Amino acid sequence: MTDDLKPVTIYGILALQGDYEAHRKMFESQVGVKTAFVRTPHDLDAVDALVLPGGESTTIAKLMNRNGLDAAIQTRLEHGMPAFGTCAGLILLSKRIDGRPNQPTLGAMDVTVARNTFGRQVDSFEADIPFQDLEGAATPVRGVFIRAPYVTEAGPKVQILAHFDDKIVAVRQGNLLGIAFHPELTDDARVHTHFARIVERSREKRT
Ligand code: GLN
Repeated sequence: MTDDLKPVTIYGILALQGDYEAHRKMFESQVGVKTAFVRTPHDLDAVDALVLPGGESTTIAKLMNRNGLDAAIQTRLEHGMPAFGTCAGLILLSKRIDGRPNQPTLGAMDVTVARNTFGRQVDSFEADIPFQDLEGAATPVRGVFIRAPYVTEAGPKVQILAHFDDKIVAVRQGNLLGIAFHPELTDDARVHTHFARIVERSREKRT
């Protein structure tokens, strides 16, 4: 599919479980781009990028596997589809989960994540997170962490965008953006806008 055949970029939002509505609201009302919910491989065909929301990564993985959506997403990711995962979405994009070798993921980002183990703050907390590469980067992002993962290891192609308490909480690898917290639950659209720039610059090779 080429740009001249498809002038409007559609941001797919994986809508099986979790806070996908919050992402839709952020992209539609604050970033000003068009979105579509993705629940089937057919839905995936109609979108140019994919957002993986926060939620429960094991549940989302199970639901994706029922109709082959996981394999369809993997194929698109291999061809360079831009993707943006928050919290459970970051877990799903990662290649490895610390201590859980059998939990399925899409295996796209060369990172290891640890689930539900944010020191003593295992449940919810908020913190101001300095974030590299954002417009207005001098102002930190408000990080809403809900049983959040963090990145324990990042491969050489992974750019680290943010830390909290010496732990990696935001990463980018090419067209992939993974955030341990939930920018979609604030009214600061800078992280979503950052992803929109990645999408604008990307050129996926689709057959
Ligand atoms: N703890 C969840 C998981 O491991 C992620 C939490 C979230 O997305 N807010 O899937």
